[in-house]
Amino acid sequence: MTATKMTATKTERAYLDWNATAPLRPQARAAMVAALDAIGNPSSVHAEGREARSIVEAARESVALLVGAEPRHVVFTASGTEANVLALSPQTGGHWQRLLVSAIEHPSVRAGGRFPAVEAVAATACGLVDLADLERRLAQGPAPLVSLMLANNETGAVQPVAEAAALVHAAGGLLHVDAVQAAGRIVCDINALGADLLTLSGHKIGGPKGAGALVKGGPLDLAPLVTGGGQERGQRAGTENVASIAGFGAAAGAAEADLAPESTRMRGLRDRLEAGLRAGTPEVIIFAAEAERLPNTTLFTVPGLKAETAVILFDLEGVAISSGAACSSGKVQPSHVLEAMGVSPQLARGAVRVSLGPATTQDDIERFLTAWITVSGALLERSRGMAA
Ligand code: PLP
Repeated sequence: MTATKMTATKTERAYLDWNATAPLRPQARAAMVAALDAIGNPSSVHAEGREARSIVEAARESVALLVGAEPRHVVFTASGTEANVLALSPQTGGHWQRLLVSAIEHPSVRAGGRFPAVEAVAATACGLVDLADLERRLAQGPAPLVSLMLANNETGAVQPVAEAAALVHAAGGLLHVDAVQAAGRIVCDINALGADLLTLSGHKIGGPKGAGALVKGGPLDLAPLVTGGGQERGQRAGTENVASIAGFGAAAGAAEADLAPESTRMRGLRDRLEAGLRAGTPEVIIFAAEAERLPNTTLFTVPGLKAETAVILFDLEGVAISSGAACSSGKVQPSHVLEAMGVSPQLARGAVRVSLGPATTQDDIERFLTAWITVSGALLERSRGMAA
């Protein structure tokens, strides 16, 4: 896409679905284009190979810096999903018989990776992992591998990971943290969190789609998911995707540099959006509003709203948002996150997620609020008519 086309798209539409994926940052694009001309294989010893290797290693340093880790502890993968599955093995740094994950995890964690079964830890009504339930389960059997997210992709609720880490370690367990939505939006330091392993995804921070990393808090043996060559210190075979890794590294560097001011700016825009929603529709419900949330995320509904229809109507108004419900095999499933929070299926079906990013402007927020007047008017009138 040319720069002209990008500018035109930007003014014509408001993209407010950054938790689904972020547009490519200019720094990532430039790094990728340059890396495409690196002709060598990073494993080759000649000058061309060494050039490709230096691109990969520079990216590894940037990704490590974003989460306060050592570069040698970063394992590049093809997605956040792959990093989660790589982490979730009974052989990760030991021999685990149990896997505990919270009920609000991403499907790539809820699926349990290479464990035969998963135990779900409850969530509270405000969208946080229930630490009392975690503690109870930790006391019940052999020490487990535990996987918790740092911030929820639907509500944005920031989880009490450091407190959970203390409980998990006291019980002799190991903690994996899915930081895919948190990285680049809030401070995310692997040591301060007490995480043994941490997952990142390139495309959520303005890198390319199809690049991820599993980061280790210290020396720890992984059970490779992809076996063969000795790439990534023997933990992920296959010639590295040099251009994607370069883009991921550049995005991580840019996200790190802008973190504090961007986080404050996004919070201001998000708060303006929520104030506008409340002013226009006093009956609006903002999920997990009592919890600390990512500065860029709002998940809301109004009784009677149908999220699938709202998403289509917003799209027609030039605003890209998403519904809280997952659509798989053509069937809309109510959100497992809202279900775990005890939200009724009727209300959950109306959950709409708006997520902002570094390129979001005040105009985008105003455009959303103007569209909301049209969308809510049309939808709520229809649902009230049907109820009458
Ligand atoms: N974990 C969370 C919390 C996510 O939101 C996502 C993607 O939406 C993933 C993991 C998967 O990342 P990827 O799209 O890179 O596979």
